[in-house]
Amino acid sequence: GFATLPDLIRAHALERGDRTAVADAQDSIDYRTLDAVMDRVAAALQRDGVAPGTAVAIVAAPTTYYAAAFLGAVRAGCVATPIAPSATPAAIGAMIADSGAPIVFLDAENARALEGQSLSTRVVVFPREGGGPDWAPAFAGEHAFYHFVDWLALDGAKPIPVAIAPEDPFNIIYSSGTTGTPKGIVQSHAMRWAHIARNTAAGFDTAVTMIATPLYSNTTLVSFLPTLGWGGTVVLMKKFDARAYLELAERHRATHTMLVPVQYQRIMALPDFDAFDLSTFRFKTSTSAPFSAALKADVVARWPGVLVEFYGMTEGGASCALNATANPTKLHTVGQPMPGHEIRLIDDDGNEVAPGEMGEVVGRSPAMMNGYHGRAEATRDAEWRDADGNRYIRHGDVGRFDEDGFLTLMDRKKDLIISGGFNIYPSDLEAVLARHPAVADCAVIGVPSEAWGETPVGFYVPHAHTTEDTPTILAWANAQLGKTQRLSALHVADELPRSAIGKVLKRELRDRLASTAP
Ligand code: ATP
Ligand code: MG
Repeated sequence: GFATLPDLIRAHALERGDRTAVADAQDSIDYRTLDAVMDRVAAALQRDGVAPGTAVAIVAAPTTYYAAAFLGAVRAGCVATPIAPSATPAAIGAMIADSGAPIVFLDAENARALEGQSLSTRVVVFPREGGGPDWAPAFAGEHAFYHFVDWLALDGAKPIPVAIAPEDPFNIIYSSGTTGTPKGIVQSHAMRWAHIARNTAAGFDTAVTMIATPLYSNTTLVSFLPTLGWGGTVVLMKKFDARAYLELAERHRATHTMLVPVQYQRIMALPDFDAFDLSTFRFKTSTSAPFSAALKADVVARWPGVLVEFYGMTEGGASCALNATANPTKLHTVGQPMPGHEIRLIDDDGNEVAPGEMGEVVGRSPAMMNGYHGRAEATRDAEWRDADGNRYIRHGDVGRFDEDGFLTLMDRKKDLIISGGFNIYPSDLEAVLARHPAVADCAVIGVPSEAWGETPVGFYVPHAHTTEDTPTILAWANAQLGKTQRLSALHVADELPRSAIGKVLKRELRDRLASTAP
């Protein structure tokens, strides 16, 4: 079957209208209210002539308003386009222009997000949370803007029903740009439906799902949207803080959560972690970045409920899942392809590698992007076809299957280091560095070398109170590495540069070195 998410929310509004759909730090709205505000958003978009298939941008912190605007736009057949408020005004302007959105939702916290941009978009500003005086965006005068409550269609207004087909676009996500400029990834209603439908056993219908990552990332949407699709409650956190997270989880008696590995790391590192009552948790998930086996084991041992790690990408392709609780001997892997998901590994020439060999991940599933918005060539470059002409998506990651069909992920293909003709996997070197007791966090990148083409260089963040010096750690690590793998330098850092969803930004490490080079 297939249902649109707005239709599922309508059904919950009728069946369990008093249940909280979305809670944030200030407000909470039940399903009846969410459904009604979605209607008013959809009707207002129709009144303004925003046709189905048109992008509607949102540049705001995650709140109940955000949820209603996002889902109301989808009900009108528009394409929800959440954009990172943390990006520069120029980058935000470029993404809005690329999407073609004629209208942008903005909040007081991000009043300056569009400063200096001359866009012909209408801007609808969300009320200040928890009341407070009216506010106008910093760029007043350059844009036509409206206050959300004035802009909404009248209470009780109904949008004209829009027929939505499974392949119609649901949302655009701008890629996080971990490796390059953001591309608009178009995800369909069918893809979203696949994300909801695959969670039959996850108990989302009675879930209280804690979310502490931003809503412009697919990492977040894959738990936010299924929770609402099944009629559960989402608790949104604007800014992650380990202690505040645990306090909120206790208060809401949270049952589900999606956290990225660095968030698990910060939470588990709290000295009084064990004092919190987390007995209500049933299902914890993680995705988006490498999650060390040691950290997974710690979460499994000390935090109630099942832990599942997902590996996948915004573009779709195929996803793997590892039930870490049930597979204690497989914690170094990202698990097996999910049902209906197919992964193959290919070499540089696009041929499948032999079983057990390393190769680039290509994947195919019911949850695949339609393509990159307005970039037919980039979309074609992201595809791989098997002998039968089936479409796979290239993941850009290198991995290997073990004899039980569990995938070990190595590195992004772009991060591989080729030194003197040998392939060096930064993840191998990172694993060695991470074992040193003085190392709290680390990353390895390749830098240009006249002698070798490229050579590996490491960065590490020391544990507080450590007295070990950098040359000693470098010598210790190199003593355990093969001759062709040795680090040519090791640098100490206060922290590693990370994206808003916790991915290490290796290109920033490369820039750091380039800018300090003689
Ligand atoms: P961009 O494509 O703009 O460079 P991105 O690839 O980081 O950004 P996403 O689609 O959010 O954007 O992330 C997908 C990538 O994240 C995967 O290709 C993989 O490299 C990494 N990833 C996802 N899940 C995991 C995981 N469980 N373990 C390790 N890495 C993961
Ligand atoms: Mg990517």
